[in-house]
Amino acid sequence: QPTSIILLGMAGSGKSTVLQRLNSYLHSKKQPPYVINLDPAVRELNYNANIDIRDTVDYSKVMKQYNLGPNGGIMTSLNLFTTKFDQVLGLIEKRKGSVQNILVDTPGQIEIFTWSASGAIITDAIASETPTVIGFVVDTPRTMAPATFMSNMLYACSILYKTRLPVLLIFNKTDVQDCSFAEEWMTDFEAFQAALSSRSATSTHESTNQSEEPSYMNSLMNSMSLVLEEFYANIKTVGISAMTGAGMPEFFDAVEECRKEYYSDYKPELDRLR
Ligand code: GDP
Repeated sequence: QPTSIILLGMAGSGKSTVLQRLNSYLHSKKQPPYVINLDPAVRELNYNANIDIRDTVDYSKVMKQYNLGPNGGIMTSLNLFTTKFDQVLGLIEKRKGSVQNILVDTPGQIEIFTWSASGAIITDAIASETPTVIGFVVDTPRTMAPATFMSNMLYACSILYKTRLPVLLIFNKTDVQDCSFAEEWMTDFEAFQAALSSRSATSTHESTNQSEEPSYMNSLMNSMSLVLEEFYANIKTVGISAMTGAGMPEFFDAVEECRKEYYSDYKPELDRLR
């Protein structure tokens, strides 16, 4: 059974570059993946997709025909494609014996995939066919502010609870900033709290606040951290650089762990519901 890796990430996190890197790494290992592009609006792909949503739906025509803006156009294209997804599953089925990895690229605007019926239908369909991992790409240099870090983690957390699939946090761009600070915050609550308070001490927004009184934001984040501790305990992380290719073996080791988790946690539930 091949493992499906569905890549999600905020725009600019480096999702497309990550996919390109995974693709070239697997080619160099003589294990070419099966690649599916679900972004109808992308102009040019820097990898060869085996299945490309753009071969089925013409995003700009959809926009004109239904008189939609860019996001509506992407959403409608995804909906149209979803109606034919059984054909995609048929193609995946045929490749099951010969490929080890299926890489799935999603629309650049993450919400379109994570908060739409089509995104859920496609995710569930893939996950019922093959062991599946959600790869959540994080822009490491841009997540160093504790508040940004927290909101990224909450997003990943919501994806975990929505899909119930194993989620792998991919800290990308480690060539610019290594991700040890993030891993520390995820394992040591006090370190995160310390980062929070040192931030607020220097932040101008907090200037009206007298020292002992925690600001609303700080106390909110402190309580959220407790919720997230539970989430952190259940999640795998890996640091990579899509630019330099650092961290590829570790990435696939983590995917292997997630695959086991799929079989131990997700699959039994799936079988029970069938
Ligand atoms: P997407 O919008 O998430 O698909 O992001 P892209 O793949 O288009 O990348 C966004 C920007 O981040 C581009 O300028 C990339 O060159 C850059 N980028 C992606 N991965 C890395 C990385 O590992 N290191 C560095 N330094 N830059 C990266």
